[in-house]
Amino acid sequence: MDISTRLSESQQGSQMSKRHGKPNPNRVKINRNYSLKEIARLFGSLATVRRWLKAGLRTIDSARPLLVRGMELKQFVRRWRSRNRQRCGPGQMYCLKCRAPRRPSNGEVELIQETENCGRVRGACSTCGTSMSRIVSLRSLDAALGALAATATSAEQRLSDRGFPGLNDYIEEVK
Ligand SMILES: [Zn+2]
Repeated sequence: MDISTRLSESQQGSQMSKRHGKPNPNRVKINRNYSLKEIARLFGSLATVRRWLKAGLRTIDSARPLLVRGMELKQFVRRWRSRNRQRCGPGQMYCLKCRAPRRPSNGEVELIQETENCGRVRGACSTCGTSMSRIVSLRSLDAALGALAATATSAEQRLSDRGFPGLNDYIEEVK
């Protein structure tokens, strides 16, 4: 592991723990189903759940309330925890659905600044179309992006764009 990787991982770690710690897959019971609200309660917030759904967490079907099988949730949280340990080359992000580093489609990504030193790069997988994201240290941004074209996005835009079908209504309901 080189120094720059270690640096971005430790930054990311401190940021994660500030929010709600690393999600622990052992909190999930595999023999039951979870509503989105219950997942949010276990792992932090509905924003987290929404991010996971975009990243490929599967619900049982689209009937309300949306439910996720415990087994699916547990496996997903495991993959989610280890996604940043995968080696992604310049211009690659880890796709949770393909379970491999992938290039974003059209070589385009969004850059969302999260803190002064840290940002989230987001794009769609060029193989399966799933939303992928990668946390990057803004100092090593050029190395992470490679030849990708990044568009900076503000926090407001991020909340309103690309809603997950049906989920926005749900979030309205539970507010
Ligand atoms: Zn993919």
